[in-house]
Formats: sequence, C-alpha cells, structure tokens
Amino acid sequence: MTQENYKDAIKDPIFLVIAEAAAELNVASYVIGGFVRDFLLKRGTPKDIDVVAVGSGIDLAQKVASKLPNNPKVSVFKNFGTAMLKYKDLELEFVGARKESYHEDSRKPIVENGTLEDDQNRRDFTINAMAISLNKDTYGNLLDPFNGINDLTNKTIKTPLEPGITYSDDPLRMMRAIRFATQLQFNIEEKSFASIAENKDRIKIISKERIVDELNKIMSSPKPSIGFALLHKSQLLPFILPELSALQGIEEIEGHKHKDNFWHTLEVVDNISKNTDNLWLRWAALLHDIGKAPTKKFHKKKGWTFRGHEFVGSKMVYKLFKRLRMPLNDKMKFVQKMVLMSSRPIVLSEDFVTDSAVRRLIFDAGENIEDLMTLCEADITTKNTKKQRKYRNNFKLVRQKIVEVEERDQIRNFQPPVTGEEIMKTFNLQPSKEIGILKEAIKEAILDGTIPNEYDAAYNFMLKKGKELGL
Ligand code: ATP
Repeated sequence: MTQENYKDAIKDPIFLVIAEAAAELNVASYVIGGFVRDFLLKRGTPKDIDVVAVGSGIDLAQKVASKLPNNPKVSVFKNFGTAMLKYKDLELEFVGARKESYHEDSRKPIVENGTLEDDQNRRDFTINAMAISLNKDTYGNLLDPFNGINDLTNKTIKTPLEPGITYSDDPLRMMRAIRFATQLQFNIEEKSFASIAENKDRIKIISKERIVDELNKIMSSPKPSIGFALLHKSQLLPFILPELSALQGIEEIEGHKHKDNFWHTLEVVDNISKNTDNLWLRWAALLHDIGKAPTKKFHKKKGWTFRGHEFVGSKMVYKLFKRLRMPLNDKMKFVQKMVLMSSRPIVLSEDFVTDSAVRRLIFDAGENIEDLMTLCEADITTKNTKKQRKYRNNFKLVRQKIVEVEERDQIRNFQPPVTGEEIMKTFNLQPSKEIGILKEAIKEAILDGTIPNEYDAAYNFMLKKGKELGL
C-alpha cells in the first residue's frame, strides 16, 4: 500500500475540523473518491468532499457541524447512512465505512458496517477508491490498495474487484465507466469493457433518471462522441437510445450509398461542443437526424431520400424525452424546434440567398436563430475540402444577411405593426375572420419585403387590402 503524503490536498482548514471531530468521537476518518481523484488529476480543488468514517458518518457530520461557525444544517439520509452539510462553497458528504452485498434484481445492496478496506472494495473504479487519511498518526497519507494512482497515470478505468461482479451488482457502473472514460478521456480496461458488453441487459434495472444523469455528463464533456461510441460498441445504446442506434449503417442499392448517419451525428455533436456549452443545443445535435431512419427510402431515379425527416424527427423528440423521463418543458420544445428547422439554413444557403428567405428564417427561428446557425455549421462534416469551404462561405453569407436584415426589419421578435384593434376600429368591424386575414396579409407583405416593417407602410397596406376585400 502506498504511504505517500498528500497533505497538499487537505490544506483547507475544514479538514482539521473533520479530523478533530473524528478524534473526539474516536473514529477513523478519510477523504475518499472523486475529491482525491480530481486533486491528483490537477482538475482544481474539488468542492464536493466525500468523507468516510469507520463508525457513524451521521454522528461525524453532526459533530463537524457543531464545530463550525453558525452550525450549518445537517441533512441526514438515515436509509443510506449518510449525511450532508454545506459550508462556504463546499459540499461535505459523510458516510460510515460499509461492506455491501447485492441481490440479482436490485442495485440496492444489503449493507453492513465495515472497515476502510471493505469500503474501498465497494467503490466502482480504482481511481475512485483512493483515500487520504485524516487521522492523527497518518494525516495526509494516501491509501490506495488497488494502485489507482497508476491507473490515473495510464489513463485507465478499471474496477477494484472482478468486473463481472462489479457491473452486475450495480449496472449503473457501466454508464459511469463510459462517462468517466468520456470526461477524462481515459480507456476502459479491455476485460472491464468486455464485461460491460456481457452485462448490457442488466441496464434495464437502472432508473431512467440515473441513466439520463450520466448521458448529460457525457453530453457535457469536451468530446461527447467518445461516450456514444462506447455505448454503441458495448451494445448498451439500443437499450437507451434505440433511435440513434437505428441510424448506424450504410446501405447500397444499384451503386447508390447513403452516409452512415450515426457516425455523422457523433461528428456533429463533437463539432457543436467546440462552440457551445448549451446542453440542449448539444442534445439537438445528437437528435437532429433521428427522423432519417424511419423516413429512409430508395427511389430508382433520385437514389436515397429522407423526406420529411425533420418533421418526423421533431415528433420523435417528444417520445424520446417522455420515455427517458426528461423534462417535457421549454427545453424539449427547443430541441424539437432545432430538429424541425435543422435543414432550413442549408437549403437556403444552397441557393441565392434572398432577403425574404432570410426574413422568413428569422421569423420562424425567432430568438433561437443563432443556435440554429451554430447547429447547421456543426452539421458540415464533409471531408471534401472544396465543398467544406463552399458551405462555410455560404453560411457566412447567411449570417451576414441575418445581421443586415435584422438591423433593417427587426423580425426576430416580430410584433404586428398594426394591431387587430386598430383594424377593427378603421373598418368598423366586430371580431371576425377578416381581421385575421388582414393581419396575415400584413405579416406576409413584410416577410416578402413588399413593405418595410413600419407602422405607416403597414397602415397604408391595410387600407389598400381592406378595399380589395370590400370593407
Ligand atoms: P463526479 O462528481 O464527477 O460525479 P465522483 O467520483 O465524485 O465524480 P460521485 O457520484 O459523487 O462521483 O461519487 C462519489 C464516490 O462514490 C465515487 O468517487 C466512488 O468512489 C463512489 N461511487 C459513486 N457511485 C458509485 C457506484 N455506483 N458504485 C460504487 N461506487 C460509487
């Protein structure tokens, strides 16, 4: 066992308070898990601190709170034997060292009190099982029974015990392995990865919320494709996002091939992740082509088509969010809108970019126009440099036009320049369908560029149109 001293990791005075509290209770205590890992990886000093006590974690939390200024509130989770408190910008979680054994049909273990070693054995990965002592004689010593430090250097995700048992006991660890591999850009040890593939069916016992938590962490990583490629390779993906799995593969008929939309999608997600941290825009990138699997057709003349895939895809977004118990709120609507509109700027840039087409694009995208452009630019994955340059230039043009048109016409948060009430007053009308017709005609005239988006022009246009309608 390594006996190196890592006092630097526990410089914060809070650790002395914990050590003192533990000494008074006569229990050994250690800081463990993500805190130690991230300190050694130099990912900054983590704000989440997990402390394990060889004894009661709840008692230790209460003792620590009693020693801190203003005695912060302790949240106790009796069923889990854990307690949490917040102090300054730190979140401290206390747990009693435990030994776990599992049943086939649940990821909830039978728990007994245990030693530090028992507790390290139940941890998911060697890099997450390292502890630093907070005890007087060994203060700052690293306790690393599985040589996690070596795995940090080798960038390896490895389970402390037999991987088959570790994953089968708690299948969430399969997702966590893939998530850490993505976040840290580590490799999953071969034996471990094979075991994930063997245990893939066990993912069914994991709640959707937990799975989505991990997906979101994968999605928020610098290169999310690492995680999705691993989910695909381990065959976990069909259990989680079958819509995405269905995009994989290339078909060829009469010499016509289409691109592999799964691998294309992963490239798009990586591309967009260089330009945005918006989780939901990243989700939109992941789902932008899901309508392609159900709409795929082969035509003798046209080759492969995916007609209406944006519309079908946006409907699928709702079902997918619902199935995964993701929020069915404005975030979901945003993803739907992005998927629905995902081809619009492309179609537009293929042609001569007219002002009116840009006005309609801004009108439909509204405040999401920038995000939509970011998505479309990420969608350029062609390896043909000439084509790539052409597409990029076209999008540059579209962006320029958006700025110009927006400056002049202010379409983004379009408000009709003439209100329904004014139309009623002018023509002495009761609420009727004519008002809707006139309002629509004014809006269309503005979008077409027949009239500017201004009150006087709109008013005169209304008078003329009203006459035509015999009002
Ligand atoms: P992050 O904060 O990035 O999620 P973390 O390692 O701190 O990383 P937590 O989920 O907070 O992740 O877990 C804290 C520690 O608890 C882990 O480092 C690991 O030792 C242990 N742990 C968490 N979940 C499991 C699990 N499913 N099986 C075994 N050990 C786990």
